[in-house]
Amino acid sequence: NVNNSSHFIKYIVQEDLDKGAYEHVVTRFPPEPNGYLHIGHAKSIVLNFELADAFNGKTNLRFDDTNPLKEDQEFVDAIKQDIQWLGYEWDGLFYASNYFEEMYERAVLLIKKGLAYVEDLTQEEIRQYRGTLTEPGKESESRSRSVDENLALFEKMRKGEFANGEKVLRAKIDMSSPNINLRDPVIYRISHTEHHNTGDKWCIYPMYSYAHPLEDAIEGVTHSICTLEFEDQRPLYDWVVAHTEIEGTPKQIEFARLNLTNTVMSKRKLKQLVDEGYVDGWDDPRMPTLSGLRRRGFTADSIKTFCREIGVSKADNLVDVRMLEHFVREDLKLQSPRTMSVLKPLKVVITNYPEGEVEWLDAEVNPENETMGTRQIPFSREIYIEQSDFMENPPKKYFRLFPGNEVRLKHAYFIKCEEVIKDEEGNVIELRCTYDPETKSGSGFTGRKVKGTLHWVEATHAKEAEFRLYNSLIDDEKSGDDFLDAVNPESLDVVHGYVEPNMADVKGNDKFQFFRHGYFNVDPKDSHEDKLVFNRIVELKSSFKL
Ligand code: ATP
Ligand code: MG
Ligand code: MG
Repeated sequence: NVNNSSHFIKYIVQEDLDKGAYEHVVTRFPPEPNGYLHIGHAKSIVLNFELADAFNGKTNLRFDDTNPLKEDQEFVDAIKQDIQWLGYEWDGLFYASNYFEEMYERAVLLIKKGLAYVEDLTQEEIRQYRGTLTEPGKESESRSRSVDENLALFEKMRKGEFANGEKVLRAKIDMSSPNINLRDPVIYRISHTEHHNTGDKWCIYPMYSYAHPLEDAIEGVTHSICTLEFEDQRPLYDWVVAHTEIEGTPKQIEFARLNLTNTVMSKRKLKQLVDEGYVDGWDDPRMPTLSGLRRRGFTADSIKTFCREIGVSKADNLVDVRMLEHFVREDLKLQSPRTMSVLKPLKVVITNYPEGEVEWLDAEVNPENETMGTRQIPFSREIYIEQSDFMENPPKKYFRLFPGNEVRLKHAYFIKCEEVIKDEEGNVIELRCTYDPETKSGSGFTGRKVKGTLHWVEATHAKEAEFRLYNSLIDDEKSGDDFLDAVNPESLDVVHGYVEPNMADVKGNDKFQFFRHGYFNVDPKDSHEDKLVFNRIVELKSSFKL
C-alpha cells in the first residue's frame, strides 16, 4: 500500500517557505461554472485543499467565470455542493468576474506602457501571422499603433462600438519567440453576451491566460496548481504578473491530469452525453461526475483515498477505474449492513413446512463487524431464490439447487429440491422443496454436509424492489472517430425482485452489501416507500490487485 501523501509539489512549497519566498501558503480551486465536477476535478480539489492544509495555509474556491457563453448558476450551486460533500471548506469564495474592472485597468496600463495593442486582423489572419514552431511569426500593421490610438480604440471596444470579432487586444511581447504562446497573444475579445454575474455591463471579456494570473495575484494565491497543458503558458503567466504591476507573485505549478480507463472526462463530452440523452442527467449513476458517483453510492472517503493514492506526478498516466472501485469496497466493507436480496426471483414452496406459520431467525448484520449486531428475518413455507441458483440439468460441479440436490439457505435450513413446476411453454416457474428442521443454522448440526449456500427472501413479507445494475458507459475497446462510438449500449440493466422486510424504511443513499451481489445504494431520487430502488455500486469481487 503506497502512501503518496508526499509529492513533488509539497517539496516545492516547502522549499519556497524555507527560503522565505512566501510566508504562508494560499491555493485555490478554480472551476469554470460550465458543467458539473467530475472525478478529475476531485483530484485537483484534494491536491489543493490538502496541500494548503499541510502547511496551515488556505484554499479558496474561485469561479473562473470569465467566459459568458456557457456559464450558469445551476453549475455554480452544484460545484459548491460537491466540494462540501467531499468534506472541504474553502476560505474565500470568489468570482473572477468581480475583477473585470481591475483587469480592464491593468490592460489600459499595459497599453500605456506600450505592451498591448488593438488588433484589426481576423482570428484566422492572426493564426496565419503567428507562424509555426519552425517559422517565426509576422508582425501585423496594428502592432505599430500609437499608445493614444490604442487607448481610444480599446475604450471603444468596451463601449460596444464594434461587433464580435472585429477587434481584439493583444499583448505586445515577441512575434519571433520560440514559445508560440508569447507571439502577441490575444488578451481581450469582444462578445456581446450577457454574463450570469455582470449582466450586460461588459461586452469585452479577458482571455484565460491573461485573466488567470491576475485572479491568482488579486486573491494572494501563492501556488497556482494547474494541469500539464498549461506548462507552455507559464512564461505568459509570469509576464502578465510582472508587467501589469499587480501586487503578489503567484507561482504556477503543473501536474498531470487524471485519466481513467473506460471513462470520458471532459465537460464538453459529458455535456454531450447529457444533452443527447445517452444518460439521464449529470447525476446519472453511470457518469464520472461527483454527483453521479454519489448517486451511484461511492463515498466521499473512497474518492479522496483514491485521489491520494494515485499520487501527483508530471507524467501523463491512465489509471484503471477498478482502482476507484477497490477503494469503495474497502470503505464499505466494515460499515455497510449485509442483507439478502433476490434480483431475479424464482418461487420455492417448502411442502413440509406448516402452512400459515412464520418464524423469525437471527442473522448477523456484518460478520466482519460484530458491533453491528443482529437482525431478524422471517422464514416460512414460501420463499424466493435467485433464478440462476437453479438448473434442471446442471453441469458437473454445480453445487446449487437441482432436482434431488440439497443446499443450505443462508441463516436458515437445508432444503432439497423434490419437484419442478413449469408453465405451458416449459419455463420453470416454481420449485417444490422439503426442508430438514434439524439443520437450522446455529444449531450445531453436523449430520451431513452440503456444498452450496444460497441467499433467499421469505415471500409473504418481502418488499418489492428495483435493482439498477451498471456496466461501463464508455468502452475503451470500441474506439472510433467520435467518442460517442465508444458508448456502451448495455450500460444499464434494470431488474425487479425482492429485499428483506426490514428494508422497508431505508433512506436515500443508505448503503448495503447484498449477499453475493455486491454493494448497493438506495437511489436518492427515485426510491421511496412504495417503490424501493437500489443502484449497484460495485460487485463484490474484482480481479484487480493494488
Ligand atoms: P474539462 O476539460 O474536463 O472541462 P477543465 O480543466 O476545463 O476540465 P475547469 O473547470 O477549468 O475544467 O477545471 C478546474 C480545475 O480542475 C482546474 O484547475 C483543472 O486543472 C482541474 N482539472 C480538470 N480536469 C482535471 C483532471 N482530469 N485531472 C486533474 N485536474 C483536473
Ligand atoms: Mg475549462
Ligand atoms: Mg478543459
